[in-house]
Amino acid sequence: MSSLQSASDAITEYTRDIALYRRLLVIAGGVYLGWWLGIHLILPNAFNPLPSRLAVVTVIFAIWGLSFVSAWVRARVRLFLIASTWLITLHFYFLFYENGGDANWVIGSYITVIAINLCLLTAASLLSYSVYVTVLSALMAYLLPHLRDSIFLPGLLTILVQANMGLRARASIIRNLIASNERFQLLFHATFDGIIVHEGGKILTTNESMSQISGFSREELVGRSVLDILAPEERATVQVKLGQDEVIPYETHGLRKDGRITDVEVRAKNFQYDGRSVRLVTIQDISDRKKADRERVKALTAIENLRVRDEFISIASHELKTPISSLKLQTQMIERDLKHGVSDLDTPEKIADVMALFHRQIDRLTELVESMLDVSRISAGRFTLDLADVDLAELARQSVKLMSVHTLSTGAPPIEVRVPQSLVVKGDRRRLQQVIENMLSNSLKYGNRKPISVELRTDAAEAQLIFRDHGLGIAPEFLPRIFDRFERAISARNISGLGLGLYITRQIVESHGGTVSVTSDLGVGSVFTVHLPIAAVK
Ligand code: ADP
Repeated sequence: MSSLQSASDAITEYTRDIALYRRLLVIAGGVYLGWWLGIHLILPNAFNPLPSRLAVVTVIFAIWGLSFVSAWVRARVRLFLIASTWLITLHFYFLFYENGGDANWVIGSYITVIAINLCLLTAASLLSYSVYVTVLSALMAYLLPHLRDSIFLPGLLTILVQANMGLRARASIIRNLIASNERFQLLFHATFDGIIVHEGGKILTTNESMSQISGFSREELVGRSVLDILAPEERATVQVKLGQDEVIPYETHGLRKDGRITDVEVRAKNFQYDGRSVRLVTIQDISDRKKADRERVKALTAIENLRVRDEFISIASHELKTPISSLKLQTQMIERDLKHGVSDLDTPEKIADVMALFHRQIDRLTELVESMLDVSRISAGRFTLDLADVDLAELARQSVKLMSVHTLSTGAPPIEVRVPQSLVVKGDRRRLQQVIENMLSNSLKYGNRKPISVELRTDAAEAQLIFRDHGLGIAPEFLPRIFDRFERAISARNISGLGLGLYITRQIVESHGGTVSVTSDLGVGSVFTVHLPIAAVK
């Protein structure tokens, strides 16, 4: 425990003692004044002057009052309490003497001494008081000889011996209690978890570990709201939990005094404390564990990224090789036929057919290289839009026309187009065309040669381009990943592809402020919808 802490504990103890001595002063003064009335009623003929008793009581109450205004008196209030008990005793023996050592006053002396013994809390004060009373009593016995033949002195000494022994027993109980409390405090403060007891969010008590977790001292924490030591964004959620009776542990973010955010695990339950229904909360700092978790996830992601990249490189090499091999084979064959004078490229139609084949392979190569370049542009943050007015309806019609020219000869189904006359948006024409072509080429590729369609709709919030096919469909477990880089829901052996089209499409649409969504049933078909917000629509 810090020296500051022990100093503050000592101050708390001192304040508590002063309050106790003040209370004892008031009790002593009050009872001694009330005692006058008792004698007045029970022994009306006794010598029982009020003024001298009032003077004694006034002195006692004056000490009590001064303890509030004078630090000097306050620091010595225990001594003043002892002095007051001596003063009361002295005054009582004066009355005792003036009443001639009457038997009633013998009993009164016993009552007075017993009552005062109860106000004295230390062995030294009790012992010195015992000596003082013995001397006074011996003096009485000397002045009033008949007391020597009575039980006055033996009775008084018995009371004093009993009081001293009783105090020892009481002191040992108190010592045990203090030791047990100290052991409890030690455990309470040394435990690994931070502990808070709060009532409706207001902290009543807390331990040293909590002070280390939060950076606030225990004094700063007591009286504060538990919400103050939580990250601002967590406060609303935790506030709801404050009133509940759940014990379920939950994780949240703590706010340290120095402004640092920590990961903490919290457990809380309601219980009775000092007769009040409060909430006991234990708080564990799990920042290190969380950091280790995050690093593990990072390492796993890095390994996964490497695996995906290697797979991509092998797919990409294969994809690039296919059109190159085909081109090479065709040119070698033409070369060989020309050399041997057996070439059948003797009509413009035949030459056009070969050229078309070459173009398809070159287009495929260009497309692959463009995709890879786009991905590297996106990764490097160099993906920019060239915004202008674009008629989406006209763009859709034109893209379909262009694709049909290439695909109809391969036996692909016609593409149904349902678009309004015109729908002008603010966008990058080339990129939006790329989106439409990517989506259409997927519909054709995975559409099982069944009819496909593109539709353009608009409402108050957004424009929607809907691409529908009745082909392979996508298994639900792949749906969340198909828009990620290099992700494919089908083996490269079945249908070739780099797994980049949807990734690029999503990046383009998102950079226009839109989203892409998909619904699909395996073996039934897929519907991809490109949502462009109305803000992006002119
Ligand atoms: P690629 O087609 O080159 O593999 P994409 O990024 O365009 O890459 O598509 C990712 C994956 O999503 C594809 O491999 C395929 O499994 C799936 N997919 C995309 N469009 C469709 C569709 N219309 N029907 C069924 N599966 C599709």
